Amino acid sequence: MRQPSKYISGVFIILTLLFISSCSEPLDHAYALNGKTMGTTYNVKFYLSEQSQNVDVQALQAELDQRLIEINQLMSTYIPDSELSLLNQAIANEPFPISDETQRVINEALRIGNMSNGALDITVGPLVNLWGFGPDQKPETVPRPEQISELEPFVGTDKFVLDGGKIIKAHHKVYIDLSTIAKGYAVDELASILSDKGIADYLVEIGGEMRVAGKKPGQQDWLVAIEKPITSERAIQRILSIGDNAIASSGDYRNYFEEAGVRFSHLIDPKTAYPIQHNLVAVSVIAPTCIEADGLATALIVMGAEEGRALAERAGISALFITKEGDEFVEYRSTAFERHVKVVQ
Ligand code: FAD
Repeated sequence: MRQPSKYISGVFIILTLLFISSCSEPLDHAYALNGKTMGTTYNVKFYLSEQSQNVDVQALQAELDQRLIEINQLMSTYIPDSELSLLNQAIANEPFPISDETQRVINEALRIGNMSNGALDITVGPLVNLWGFGPDQKPETVPRPEQISELEPFVGTDKFVLDGGKIIKAHHKVYIDLSTIAKGYAVDELASILSDKGIADYLVEIGGEMRVAGKKPGQQDWLVAIEKPITSERAIQRILSIGDNAIASSGDYRNYFEEAGVRFSHLIDPKTAYPIQHNLVAVSVIAPTCIEADGLATALIVMGAEEGRALAERAGISALFITKEGDEFVEYRSTAFERHVKVVQ
């Protein structure tokens, strides 16, 4: 059975404060704004200080919503006339002009793709769609080997060139999927809107990817709960304090189907063209920006426990890995995680 992942986040916040979750309700100087975007939800919580007292909260929510609409219109594969969808429909060898914003996101994905030896590959789109995890809902069945091999010639970041603000695809079927990283980018963009208005204490979250800054009243840290990687219930694995940083998680336990007792998740290993089949079930990454945390979390989980941990050590990535060993979940914390992240529980 397909698990409904989209309205369930991989990481979620502990609501220790009495935030009111409907629209823009002030509580002393605390505000909570939320809405729907990117097939999931967003939540923004913040405090107004002496310096930011004059912020018009209704106008702020309109600005956040507008920014999300713009990013969707650029980078969604779920909107047929978004910039990315038009690129995906473009013919081969014809330069396709692309916005600076989408270029920035593609370049960051390519950087993390290189770092991870191709584990993060934004050209896996045709495979994501074939396995039934893209915009067109497909039957929940394992594709035939010939369907998979038909698509392999179009997958690989050498199948397009990004140069001088234009993308040239080597084949018209080359299809870029930014679902793994564009939510993180959007979190960063909403965070900049808040800080540009002088708001220093905030939390921004879209579908589980999150960025926090400053403190809650009383100089308390924002606390972030990491979910246990189980499907049967929502339970907490860890509670963390991450400083002025972002956190993103990737897991195989929310968006998947099962066939003959085997789990096939939305995380595709570009080397095999199959969903990952190893015992690393969840990875959370803490980084200064959410785009980076989001891309790295997917890269590390696709790499698997051994390679992912080696990369985290080599590159100084703050990451929490959870593997399934028999019936147990076993945690591994990278050296950078141990140094920079406070484990509260
Ligand atoms: P992550 O781990 O962050 O990313 C996994 C996703 O990345 C996979 O689902 C797949 O798409 C892709 N992927 C898989 N393997 C790899 C790999 N090896 N390398 C690179 N990428 C890989 N969903 C809807 O249902 N409706 C919508 O309208 C909708 N709109 C969206 C608009 C935007 C701009 C974005 C970014 C996403 C949208 N989504 C929508 C998708 C959805 O919200 C999630 O982004 C998606 O389900 C994956 O996010 P995640 O955090 O669950 O997984």
